[in-house]
Amino acid sequence: MTREYETVIGLEVHVELATKTKIFCGCSTAFGGRPNTHTCPVCTGMPGSLPVLNRQVLEYAVSVGLAMECDITRTCKFDRKNYFYPDNPQNYQISQLYLPICRNGYIEIEDTEGGKKIGIHEIHMEEDAGKLIHDAWEDCTLVDYNRSGVPLIEIVTEPDMRSSQEVIAFLEKLRLIIQYLGASDCKLQEGSMRVDVNLSVREKGDPAYGTRTEMKNLNSFHAISRAIEGERNRQIDLLKEGEAVVQETRRWDDEKGCSHAMRSKEDAQDYRYFPDPDLVPIRISREYLDGIRAGLPEFRTEKMARYRTEYDIPDYDIEIITGSKHMADLFEAATAICGQPKKVSNWLMGETLRLLREREMDAQEIRVSPKHLAALIELVEKKEINGNVAKEVYEAMFARDVDPVQYVEEKGLKTVNDEETLRRVVKEVIAANPQSVSDYRGGKEKALGFLVGQTMKAMKGKADPVSVGGLLRELL
Ligand code: ADP
Ligand code: MG
Ligand code: ZN
Repeated sequence: MTREYETVIGLEVHVELATKTKIFCGCSTAFGGRPNTHTCPVCTGMPGSLPVLNRQVLEYAVSVGLAMECDITRTCKFDRKNYFYPDNPQNYQISQLYLPICRNGYIEIEDTEGGKKIGIHEIHMEEDAGKLIHDAWEDCTLVDYNRSGVPLIEIVTEPDMRSSQEVIAFLEKLRLIIQYLGASDCKLQEGSMRVDVNLSVREKGDPAYGTRTEMKNLNSFHAISRAIEGERNRQIDLLKEGEAVVQETRRWDDEKGCSHAMRSKEDAQDYRYFPDPDLVPIRISREYLDGIRAGLPEFRTEKMARYRTEYDIPDYDIEIITGSKHMADLFEAATAICGQPKKVSNWLMGETLRLLREREMDAQEIRVSPKHLAALIELVEKKEINGNVAKEVYEAMFARDVDPVQYVEEKGLKTVNDEETLRRVVKEVIAANPQSVSDYRGGKEKALGFLVGQTMKAMKGKADPVSVGGLLRELL
């Protein structure tokens, strides 16, 4: 008899919040400064320094919790998680164990039978650690505390997911909600979103969960999917052999396509949590909560509904545009300037998606500004450039957000609308292509296309093909 197995997955997701300053001090959170320049006594753990909570961190955490239908813990506090590691100068991390800010929420994902709710067990606030740099110098490791004290929220799900598809659907939805809130950019590659996958398998129909492992070091959706498949198969093979799964943390190596054990439950650390005596408990008033709830942005579903009534664009376009907060912002702002939703959408659906795919980029990374996109649309509208030239200009905009008006001027890409020049060139083309001319006169409409093409070539692409066609008809 062949046994059937079910995969059970729960996630722990760390998200760096988009505050300007750190969670317990006024240091900058900007990424990439010179090492140890965004630091002070608080975030380097100097004795006697005192932390003060950044109000914006609480606001982001509460708004993420409300967006995920969580209960907000009206009286909450911070705890110390004690461990020694050189990237953690205080010897403890300030986190929340006993009273996390949010509990009991969910995110609904689409699955084959409609919606499925994935439970959010809790969301807590905590500080990030510094960064160890191992390979810059021989025989020593350097530490950079710029990241120490950068605010994080950790979102812990219930073990409600059953496949890598569900995990990716959940993560995409989670990321979109947080991006819509402006609480983080959630970039896996840059570490502003980090996902740990807890996974076990059990025989189908078994009411109890199996023993789980935890996988870290997953920095793309692709790696997450591969790690889930790999770990699922590894555990099923063990069970089939009659062996036990060991509860442990494993590191996924995406290049080799396999995982290896990092540490097991036996050497699991005892963090000796206790309430942080330096931070006062937080009391959240009704008014404060109501204020945040009232200020929640329009999320995707509402945005889609509004687009349907407000803009005359296809559902397909709406689906894609609202799938990225950044693209939706660009669409709305460019449309507000030029008043042409369909034209703006065409640039997004066509050239933008093509370039994103070609360069393996995410919609968040689009650098074209609304002002420049609107200006490009106007250039085409006014026939100052033709469609092909517009595409060329757009590539430069996509790469460097160039001003299209200036770019067209500098590169001399303007369409020649001067009737006299055009007439002269068309006459030359007619004289040089007697065969096509007689074909056209003999009723072959196709020959006209060839002559338009020859004229465009002679004009180095800088003519309006419709005007050229008209002129050719007239002169033939
Ligand atoms: P711990 O307190 O040991 O960290 P938690 O109960 O907090 O364990 O669970 C951590 C994560 O592991 C959660 O995302 C949870 O959904 C997931 N999880 C717990 N048990 C299992 C299991 N048997 N299989 C898969 N995931 C699990
Ligand atoms: Mg845990
Ligand atoms: Zn600081």
